[in-house]
Amino acid sequence: MIDDKVLFKLLNEAKKVLLFEPNYKRKYPPLGLMKLSTLAKLNGCEVEFTRQPKKTDADLICVTTLFTYDHKITIDAVKTLQVVNPKAKMIIGGVAASVRKKDFSIGGADVLSGYSEHLDLCYPDYSIDWMIDKKWIDWSFLFTTRGCPNSCGYCFVQKIEKELMVCKEWKKGIDISKRFAMVLDNNITAFGYDHINDVANYFEKYNIKCCLDNAVDCKYINTESAKALSKIPIVKRGIRTAFDRIAEDGIFQESIETLINSGISKYNIMAYVLFNYKDTPKEANYRAKECVKLGIAPYPARYKPINSLARNIRYVSPKWTDRLAISFNHFWLMAGYYRKYDFEEYAKGEGKSRYKLTDEDWSYWNEENVADSNGERLEGRSMSNGQSSRQLPFGESRETIQRKWESDPDVLRVAHGIPQRMDRIRSLGNAIVPQVVVPIMQAIKTIEEI
Ligand code: SF4
Repeated sequence: MIDDKVLFKLLNEAKKVLLFEPNYKRKYPPLGLMKLSTLAKLNGCEVEFTRQPKKTDADLICVTTLFTYDHKITIDAVKTLQVVNPKAKMIIGGVAASVRKKDFSIGGADVLSGYSEHLDLCYPDYSIDWMIDKKWIDWSFLFTTRGCPNSCGYCFVQKIEKELMVCKEWKKGIDISKRFAMVLDNNITAFGYDHINDVANYFEKYNIKCCLDNAVDCKYINTESAKALSKIPIVKRGIRTAFDRIAEDGIFQESIETLINSGISKYNIMAYVLFNYKDTPKEANYRAKECVKLGIAPYPARYKPINSLARNIRYVSPKWTDRLAISFNHFWLMAGYYRKYDFEEYAKGEGKSRYKLTDEDWSYWNEENVADSNGERLEGRSMSNGQSSRQLPFGESRETIQRKWESDPDVLRVAHGIPQRMDRIRSLGNAIVPQVVVPIMQAIKTIEEI
């Protein structure tokens, strides 16, 4: 593994750099490579970008990676590049390489893990053809902040961007000749009014229309921050927030009303609705319906484990069935057309359903098959102080609520609060027979390699 000092040294010494992004599906250009390109050119280096492995006379190859579930495409591309360019030095960075460092330390490649604050100071090179869809050509891509104070169990951000910070040179990420900007912050609202206002004033001044992709966290919305956000020229559905957990019930609705009351059009607000995680189907449906009641668009987001190594493996949580998840996803993706139907009617085939549920699916919908019946209820959920979530005074209770959201452990697939956990683990002691575990581990390895 290397740090960014080594990267800068190698860039300094290189005469030609090949920037490489494997040919997986993605929408946005590779921001890290765009910044590397600027830096390399400032050093007088020749730069080339490709998405297909090729033979090159470059002395340095910088590879970016993205989704862990594109593992095979990424690893195969890296290996091919190494075979055809045995003499070139290779550095691999990006999300997938940061979370699976060992997998990418192959064939003499060095992994640059996490994010480089120094590289972030560079402006992105928009002059190269980054092979994006032409609808994004008129867009700038930038982060104004890094990190997120939350630690959701279904998110990598805490592992990659460990510190919370405002990017010192965020304005450099914007090409003011472009009419649109994609703000990629994880949680701009957590950085408070002054920063949001600063960002809003800038985009208002240059009349650049923005999309705040994932950046708006309902827990941090108040009248002041909503007012500041309302100054930003916004593209349709460009204020993107999330109603991922039933614990957000009440706070979410209140935040959306605050945004709308501050002058943001409800047509410009969209909420991701995570499902197939720890929720029940009815809970997820309730969250999506609440969005519709507020007049905003829900966008269903089916959970898959964050370290999943293949795109085509459909994870099914214990409280869902695959068909139920597919039907739910389809219904809510098409909610604009089907809103006159309820999901239940739709899934019974009374709408234009191609996704009728079976008796087994219905038993999951009705929770008959759900082992954990202690899940959070929909209405009047009791909080730690005995109040209903809807009655909690907005603002005062955030810390209490936030603590409740910190229940996702850092270590995946373990749980907090299990009675006598240590005693149970100790009593298991030597109960694991290696010969019994081997076939299971081999099966897991096989699946992960698919
Ligand atoms: S709020 Fe969003 S960015 Fe922050 S940890 Fe949760 S999912 Fe990740």
